[in-house]
Amino acid sequence: MPRPIQATIHTEALRHNLARARAAAPEARVWAVVKANAYGHGIERAFEGLRGADGFALLDLNEAERVRALGWRGPILLLEGVFEQRDLELCSRLGLWHTVHCDEQIDMLATHKTQVPHRVFLKMNSGMNRLGFTPQRYRAAWTRLNALPQVDEISLMTHFADSDGRRGVAEQMAVFNAVTADLPGERTVANSAATLRHTVGGPLQRPDLAAQVAADWVRPGIVVYGSAPDFPEYTAEQWGLQPAMTLAAKLIGVQELDAGAAVGYGCHFVAERPMRIGVAACGYADGYPRICPTGTPVLVDGVRTQTVGRVSMDMLAVDLTPVPDAGFGSEVTLWGRAANGALMPIDEVARMAGTVGYELMCGLAPRVPVVVD
Ligand SMILES: *Cc1c(COP(=O)(O)O)cnc(C)c1O
Repeated sequence: MPRPIQATIHTEALRHNLARARAAAPEARVWAVVKANAYGHGIERAFEGLRGADGFALLDLNEAERVRALGWRGPILLLEGVFEQRDLELCSRLGLWHTVHCDEQIDMLATHKTQVPHRVFLKMNSGMNRLGFTPQRYRAAWTRLNALPQVDEISLMTHFADSDGRRGVAEQMAVFNAVTADLPGERTVANSAATLRHTVGGPLQRPDLAAQVAADWVRPGIVVYGSAPDFPEYTAEQWGLQPAMTLAAKLIGVQELDAGAAVGYGCHFVAERPMRIGVAACGYADGYPRICPTGTPVLVDGVRTQTVGRVSMDMLAVDLTPVPDAGFGSEVTLWGRAANGALMPIDEVARMAGTVGYELMCGLAPRVPVVVD
């Protein structure tokens, strides 16, 4: 028998979360962002739940090929555009729309011999300072692209640095609007946090900007997978999201500790009183962060308890005090949904690890068997 650990991808939750994103921006079309192998869920495994999207956005050309291989004929957007000249051939062949964020990408297009003209998304660096043309150089890039026979449609795009935080989107929207006011073309600006927080009806909407934040396309990634982009200000539950991934293991051992007994490497946890602990078949080699300290929440048989001691490569220990009936074979939910319906939000585990739900999903280890339900 294989080790008792498994990840489950919940098709119905993906569908639900996609609908949630759509409801936040009902006038916009929705890119389901499936970069990084659908945030660790697996593109092929997530596809059924996400096929109701209007398009798929990703980075890797190989992942674009995989989406086409699934039979998807609709839009696919390369969020970082092409990396070298010959990538443009694949864009032509597979009908990929691609971001243009630097002069080098325009140079490649200018020398590309193509039968099919390309649809490009011209990206502005409106304050994130990662990819994109500065506001000062944006129009020159647009004019240059517009003159190329290789390009037939130019859409306009930017990306927010702090749509989940204190700065919000107003400054970047103002920059984007000022430069693009009289340019034609569809627009896309919103990631998950902007889609939930700053569109019409969102809790941080600015009435003058909200419709522009939704624009023609929104680009939700993390919400589709059921994690809150702005945890702990809002939880996934408050946003009406459902976990799309469950990571669950079983107890493979139980220890009865006397007061003063230590648990695990480094003897970091010492029992203050007699207690029962369970040993779950999940460790950092499965993608559970080693940095999670004693006290990280976990469900045993659907009951909330906590980890004790250091996470090892293949195992971690949990306090069985709140679940006295648990024993060998009991269900341990590291994140996601337990059999009894109880939830262990990935965002709570991520917070204990000093990171975000994104990283935990993406870090699910290849050795963990994955099923789709
Ligand atoms: C990853 C990404 C998104 C999605 O971000 P989330 O925070 O997961 O919604 C949107 N746009 C671009 C350009 C991205 O790279």
